Amino acid sequence: MTFDDFLKQSIKESQDKGLKRSLRTVAGTQGPRINLDGFESLNFCSNNYLGLANDSRLSQAALECLKKEGLGAGASRLVCGNMTAHQELEEKLARFKGSQGCLLFSSGYMANVGVISSLFGRDDMIFCDRLNHASIIDGILLSQAQYKRYPHVDMDALERLLQEAPETGKKCIITDSVFSMDGDLAPLDKIVELAKKYQAIVMIDEAHAFGVFGKHGKGLAEHFGVEKEIEIQMGTLSKAAGCFGAYVCGSRDLITYLINKARSFIYTTAMPPSIAAAAAKAIDIIENDHLTRERLHENARYLRAQLKLMGFNTVISESPIIPLVIGESHRALEFSQRLLRKGIFVSAIRPPTVPEHTARLRLTAMAAHTKDEIDFTLGQIQRIGKELKII
Ligand SMILES: *Cc1c(COP(=O)(O)O)cnc(C)c1O
Repeated sequence: MTFDDFLKQSIKESQDKGLKRSLRTVAGTQGPRINLDGFESLNFCSNNYLGLANDSRLSQAALECLKKEGLGAGASRLVCGNMTAHQELEEKLARFKGSQGCLLFSSGYMANVGVISSLFGRDDMIFCDRLNHASIIDGILLSQAQYKRYPHVDMDALERLLQEAPETGKKCIITDSVFSMDGDLAPLDKIVELAKKYQAIVMIDEAHAFGVFGKHGKGLAEHFGVEKEIEIQMGTLSKAAGCFGAYVCGSRDLITYLINKARSFIYTTAMPPSIAAAAAKAIDIIENDHLTRERLHENARYLRAQLKLMGFNTVISESPIIPLVIGESHRALEFSQRLLRKGIFVSAIRPPTVPEHTARLRLTAMAAHTKDEIDFTLGQIQRIGKELKII
């Protein structure tokens, strides 16, 4: 087979299975309404929960930093790319999260891959929720650690695996705190309890919880009151914080270790300082703006309750992420396309992002959605759901 044939065949296979993916383009800014491929549409699939991705306070902070520190960092952090804005953001995040230290990574993907692969190896055992994010899985594969997947949020299964684990080597339980495709929450209280009982450490990925959960928006660990008991707390600045990049918070020694060992930190250019300055502003807003966070949860509760009443399977979502599980990829795609024709953008999430036969629409609520926008969307979802005989 020639290289060209290989590409063509692979693309055709994806297409036939309803799994082919392609890019759409947003013109202008991100918000509850976007211009998508030239058409105005309601946006129900962004992780920009609090609307910070287009908040003028953040752009202003970025502009001011741009004037002082310029555009590019010029080198990795360990060479000469460590700039004032990075340092200030790490100090702010450590204080906000109440941890001894914090380290920035250029993305959540890179944080998970770098942290997990540097901390664990062949002699260690990692316990991983079956629905954890792909970047966690990639980090585990790269680490070559032994790897036990437990059924989604099944604490009995996790305990059995912990009981069977050998005495030697480090043990670590890794979980998304809010699951990115199901919108449900990891039982962090029970996970911490099990970790103590079996001398394991815990790593959480707060990508969808940072800015969204906890009294001050610090994440699900704050919500459960277990911040002091989780050794490795990772989160992204790209979702509710509206920027880009990721943090890892933990002990001073953990941070020193990662600076020395995490390859996705060492061998990459530092994030642009203006992005770090914008993220620092986002944290101020997240810490103080309880109203926007409450509005987000109100919108999510309303959407979820109405969809459930209509008879959709929304799994057990408890967050602004609301899945409508449909099953076959073609049908999920068809649903999404019909919604788009009515000016509502909800992307269809298909395998391998979600398990086989669980293709879904994944709605995300934003604080800025109005009641009218949500009601219009609900009406269209109900109509199409009936047309496609899903409800
Ligand atoms: C989005 C996401 C990531 C990746 O973060 P990026 O900053 O977008 O690279 C990691 N983990 C989870 C659970 C996510 O949802």
